Amino acid sequence: MSLDGAYDDGNIFAKIVRGEMPCVKVWEDDQILAFMDVFPQAKGHVLVISKTSKARNLLDAEAKTIGRLIGAVQKTARAVKAALKPDGLVVTQFNGSTAGQTVFHLHFHIIPRWDGVPLGRHGEGGMADMGELKALADQIAGALDGPERS
Ligand code: AMP
Repeated sequence: MSLDGAYDDGNIFAKIVRGEMPCVKVWEDDQILAFMDVFPQAKGHVLVISKTSKARNLLDAEAKTIGRLIGAVQKTARAVKAALKPDGLVVTQFNGSTAGQTVFHLHFHIIPRWDGVPLGRHGEGGMADMGELKALADQIAGALDGPERS
């Protein structure tokens, strides 16, 4: 899909937001959902999405949505750092299939990095063990500092 086009309500993240598909949730509030990437590029790879915006990418999004999302990304990244003690953290966001985007609902990736551990390739990793993902999500959620911990 190119950079331009209409939002597709049938995309996998829209289904997750509507509760039609499961996810391993880290936290949510009325506007934001943070959940574990099921094909992680590293242990603790988290995705952060808006539950209300129909932006496919950063270019489509309203400034208000971006502001809210970036705040949520920082909050989540701080919790990932506190929980998993990585040596670094990558934040990525892809726009258009040529750039590597595969799900056309605006999202940010938070990917912890450890010295000497290579980064998995975007979109080419194997599916994670659900029990391990749940344990990581619980660990990260336990390190959140806001009321969204539930
Ligand atoms: P992107 O390629 O930037 O659009 O990112 C989409 C991400 O969603 C990829 O990293 C996928 O591994 C991840 N993904 C795809 N389906 C699911 C799913 N059902 N639950 C969690 N993550 C998913």
